[in-house]
Amino acid sequence: MLKGKVALITGGVRGIGKAISLCFAKAGADIVINYNSEKSLEHANQLVEEIQGLGVKALAVKADVSQLEEAKNLVDTTINTFGKIDILVNNAGITKDMLLLRMTEEEFDQVLAVNLKGIFNCSKIATKAMLKTGGSIINMSSVVGLSGNVGQSNYAASKAGIIGFTKSVAKEFASRKIRVNAIAPGFIQTDMTDALSEQVKEATLKNIPMKRLGQVNEVAQVALFLASDLSSYVTGEVVRVDGGMAM
Ligand code: NAP
Repeated sequence: MLKGKVALITGGVRGIGKAISLCFAKAGADIVINYNSEKSLEHANQLVEEIQGLGVKALAVKADVSQLEEAKNLVDTTINTFGKIDILVNNAGITKDMLLLRMTEEEFDQVLAVNLKGIFNCSKIATKAMLKTGGSIINMSSVVGLSGNVGQSNYAASKAGIIGFTKSVAKEFASRKIRVNAIAPGFIQTDMTDALSEQVKEATLKNIPMKRLGQVNEVAQVALFLASDLSSYVTGEVVRVDGGMAM
């Protein structure tokens, strides 16, 4: 489904991003996986080998997406190495949960900088290159951006902001053959959700009609749909992958 395409996945070494990287590689795309922390370097190199074993090209690039210059270097490296960028998955994200009364300005700013400004940075650079070829951008929002959540005002604001950003950019580029969509995952089993207390996990499960956590592959499959021509008439959409949690 993605043969001959070049895909850049931010935060592509762990969790949902890793599942998307592998899923897109299996579909035939050459993959650039982005990571930020030094501790991800070894995982990044292992994943590059695993992806190359699937018969496509792969490259890992370190960049902090919240910094415009680093985002520019990330996209430029993708284009310089593989000649183009067809698919951008803005997946990198962080949480710094705290009740508003105790949340620091730094905790608010950091989450907005990575989750929202990071998407601005990468999209701004990538869309310029995609003007020549067309493309698909997929932004990782969250059901928390639709319904809010106690202790996550910073994260919810960033994820709701992503939805407004997605729809605006989708309108700006629709006539230029660049589609822009968002995915709003619910409670997906990754390092991010493993860090939550058993009490929070049990309370969340009660609110999921399907009565189970989602798996990273279940998000990756929706990303594959949005990246491929199967969704050729879909833009500005937000697809929930949440077992019914936010309906
Ligand atoms: P995760 O396992 O914590 O992975 C987050 C990824 O983001 C890591 O690969 C990390 O790379 C990268 N990252 C963090 N800061 C970065 C930065 N400044 N620049 C570049 N990369 C950065 O998270 P996940 O659960 O897979 O979540 C992936 C996305 O889905 C996030 O946007 C998250 O908000 C969203 N989401 C997740 C869930 C869920 O239930 N898991 C639900 C809704 C939405 P390094 O480790 O190298 O820093």
